[in-house]
Amino acid sequence: MEGKFKSLSLADFQKRFPDVESCKKYLAEKKWGKAYKCRRCNHHHYCSGGKPYMRQCTSCRYKESVTANTLFHKVKFSLVHAFFIVYLVSTNKKGISSTELSRKLQIQQKTCWLFRLKVLQAMESKQTVGLEGNLELLDFTLGKLKIEKKGKVEYVKKRVFIAIEKKGKGVSHMYAYYGKDKSSLEIKKFVKNYIRSKSRIICPNWSSYKPLRLEYDVLFSKKHGKKNQMGLSKRMLSSLKAWLRGMHGHAELLQYYLNEYSYRFNRNRMREEIFDHLLNRMVEHKPRTYKDIVSYHGNQTFNWN
Ligand SMILES: [Zn+2]
Repeated sequence: MEGKFKSLSLADFQKRFPDVESCKKYLAEKKWGKAYKCRRCNHHHYCSGGKPYMRQCTSCRYKESVTANTLFHKVKFSLVHAFFIVYLVSTNKKGISSTELSRKLQIQQKTCWLFRLKVLQAMESKQTVGLEGNLELLDFTLGKLKIEKKGKVEYVKKRVFIAIEKKGKGVSHMYAYYGKDKSSLEIKKFVKNYIRSKSRIICPNWSSYKPLRLEYDVLFSKKHGKKNQMGLSKRMLSSLKAWLRGMHGHAELLQYYLNEYSYRFNRNRMREEIFDHLLNRMVEHKPRTYKDIVSYHGNQTFNWN
């Protein structure tokens, strides 16, 4: 392994999770390590549920498997493969496509596609931190979105908002959001969810950004000034666009990919822990069905220009 920030190597991964038993043990420790509490009746005592690591409440007899109530719920293949997908998604610098996963693991591409989206779901920002300090805020369009309404085909531009937090000469954190349109309402929604109120924001001098002045310290960038006041966000924007094109030719479910990009970027300095961090999120997150996954915000078929 090269580079300043080492992530868990493949050999380390295989040593830690050589079989299903080790994965189940890990999940059991994450779920009940501190103390067992029955999900149904809050009782604290349990006995074996009959299957490995399954627990049964001694009061109401409720049985819970290690994967129940997590994003590993009803996983259609071996837990070792599921853990390995989390490992690959979290440690590959640019992520990994479902086609590549399918080839590597000999699992159907559609199955990989769905499970990978569950991993991306776990990467969603919890919006507990929020950007602060000196920020840049920008939006851009991504090709055209094809919408069919009552037999008529319409093309709508796909709008993405991006906010970056500056530190020194670089960017320390970023978030991206797939907005329905460019209205000031959508901008406000994004800012409210991802930016702390005392921040100083530089944004384009466009009418939809104007209402931000009422609640935030806003500086409108000069369009034709010599010095580019929004250079960092523009650079970030082009790498995000390039990544989206390379990874997801037909980017359906755009918000997932924006989450993935932001998650990885914001944890660039904690590469060693990133796999554990994501596994933990998978355990803490409530299960998602196929229907939940495809009805997630931003679900519309998108074609690049
Ligand atoms: Zn119980």
